[in-house]
Amino acid sequence: MKLHVKDLDVAGKRVLVRVDFNVPHDDDGTIRDDTRVLAALPTINELINKGAKVILMSHLGKIKFNKGSEAIAKGKAANDMAPVAKCLADRLGKPVIFVDATRGEKLTSAVAALKDGEVLLMQNTRYEEGETKNDAEIAGIWANLADAFVMDAFGSAHRAHASTYGIPEILNNEGKPTAIGYLMEKEIINLQRCVDVKAEGKPYIAILGGLKVSDKIKVIESLLTKCDRIIICGAMAYTFFKAKGYEIGTSPVEDDQLDYANKCLASGKIVLPVDNVIADEYKNANVVTTVNGDEIPAHMMGMDIGPKTRALFAGEIAKANTIFWNGPAGVFEQEQFQAGTIAICQAIADNNHCFSVVGGGDSAAAVNQLGFASKFSHISTGGGASLQIIENDGHLPGIDIISEAK
Ligand code: ADP
Ligand code: MG
Repeated sequence: MKLHVKDLDVAGKRVLVRVDFNVPHDDDGTIRDDTRVLAALPTINELINKGAKVILMSHLGKIKFNKGSEAIAKGKAANDMAPVAKCLADRLGKPVIFVDATRGEKLTSAVAALKDGEVLLMQNTRYEEGETKNDAEIAGIWANLADAFVMDAFGSAHRAHASTYGIPEILNNEGKPTAIGYLMEKEIINLQRCVDVKAEGKPYIAILGGLKVSDKIKVIESLLTKCDRIIICGAMAYTFFKAKGYEIGTSPVEDDQLDYANKCLASGKIVLPVDNVIADEYKNANVVTTVNGDEIPAHMMGMDIGPKTRALFAGEIAKANTIFWNGPAGVFEQEQFQAGTIAICQAIADNNHCFSVVGGGDSAAAVNQLGFASKFSHISTGGGASLQIIENDGHLPGIDIISEAK
């Protein structure tokens, strides 16, 4: 058992909390879904109530450091944490001190000035190039801010970065407490039910969609050993279509994964779409139509699953006793490509005997936006993390590095 935030004696102490505030947002800072902010509140409130000095940190989006100074500036502007600080203050009903820095005088003096029960959020950890490299210098700078560390960023726990791994590693070596928060606890308990599914939980069906194919496709092989069926939709479907020799037009594809896709198909457990809603353009499409799986014309792209596929998937979902879902079935942000994701939500809602988990920033946003949140047993804040914890039988770097309870 991991040390838990509720077991820490934190009055008057500086507690650094790695939260997951990587919220779906537009480039102008508009937050499209606040699930991840709300999910962090129990841990933050516990620390406030105990009189800790609460220092929050999170990454937000991606910044491309290898594409020149203009791209870096653009990435930083599009992923400024300031709007998240506003959102947090609003949900917390309490002021949040936002520090527009990730190191230096501005940050250290703001931390030194913190009073017991006050909350500070620093700028996006990914403003530091060393964050994703688990750079020792930046991990050391951040570890120096804290008397204790709480890991509550489930959505980032699969990455051994400076803020998720470097800091707790240093604090462990210094004999300072590192603990998990309430969100981590809840996520671990619920996802554990998708790791080792016993006979009464079968059939166990995984549904994989969304856009981050290269991250997610690798998990399929391990899911095949655990699941009875894997339903593939979203952008990932087109890599499988191409592997089968279908024309996929301008649909997204991972060309270096075609052999792997064929290997997965040989299991006989993969269920692919049989028809697709396709469009001529990703945004502002002029032509939108439905065709069979192997009939996508050269100049069109797959945007959602079609009606025959919705019925096929609903039939599979109705049989399941355990469902794990990551990744929307189509480009649900646009109304004309929502039907597939709605159909999956509806089929899960109609199955009242299954334990259902949906994970991922965009997947959770879709479920909320479409009004199905209450129909799921658990909505995980993690996408990649929820997939990897299943793959790694309950282990993630950001969990494993946290101290065990004595
Ligand atoms: P999550 O955040 O839940 O882990 P991803 O980030 O992998 O999911 O993918 C979510 C995105 O996938 C959504 O923004 C959605 O528009 C996109 N998507 C789904 N289907 C397609 C498709 N056929 N083509 C392009 N994008 C798609
Ligand atoms: Mg996403």
